[in-house]
Amino acid sequence: MNHSVAPVGILRSCFKEKFAIPRQPQLAPAARGVLELLPPFDQGDAVAGLEQVSHVWLLFLFHQALEDKPRLKVRPPRLGGNKSMGVFATRATHRPNGIGQSVVRLDKVEPGRLFLSGIDLLDGTPVLDIKPYVPYADSIGDAVNEMASAPPAPIPVQWGEQALLQAREHALRLGEPLAELIEQCLAQDPRPAYQIPPVERIYGVKFWDVQVRWHYPHPDMIRVLEVVHEP
Ligand code: SAM
Repeated sequence: MNHSVAPVGILRSCFKEKFAIPRQPQLAPAARGVLELLPPFDQGDAVAGLEQVSHVWLLFLFHQALEDKPRLKVRPPRLGGNKSMGVFATRATHRPNGIGQSVVRLDKVEPGRLFLSGIDLLDGTPVLDIKPYVPYADSIGDAVNEMASAPPAPIPVQWGEQALLQAREHALRLGEPLAELIEQCLAQDPRPAYQIPPVERIYGVKFWDVQVRWHYPHPDMIRVLEVVHEP
């Protein structure tokens, strides 16, 4: 059976590129976005009652990872990118139908707009459905996943003096917890697995409308070098 689906909304996210997005929701509570609902769901009726809920499930399309040819095995970055696993054993983005799912915090509900945090979704992600998180059914105390039993250990993030001032200035301008966002995302260590970066190598990523640049003074520590406005 073939059945077509259409987005109910488009996410406006702090994440402007795939690099440095946490691998799961909740890892960066300061990661925020606004889900703009599309007609006919942009009316108050579609979200009536949702203000009673603290978290929602988003079902969405990995729109920047869609592929025609199905993969049976994938190499999840979480396992270092060198171990291949059945696609259904992982949360990899390359998967049949390209569907992702994330539990995110629902901070505020307005007709046509949901304000979200703790997200792991790219800007422009088409959202296919929204469902309330149901704690008694969705949280399983004795659940086991031997491949991902705990969140990845964070690495220390140091600030260059200038970079922290810049982050605070842009945080005020944007009205966003920018310094926290940078710390929480970089502490996940976004560099590709097993890459041992020379001290002089500079990495960068865009959050909101600012470019963040950092380097590794040694392999297990990040130092933020600058946070500059790049509209
Ligand atoms: N929590 C979701 C899940 O389990 O289905 C996503 C997990 S997936 C491992 C997380 C990664 O998806 C992020 O690190 C980001 O790079 C990537 N991603 C997020 N939104 C995307 C999109 N719209 N298209 C392609 N990749 C995306």
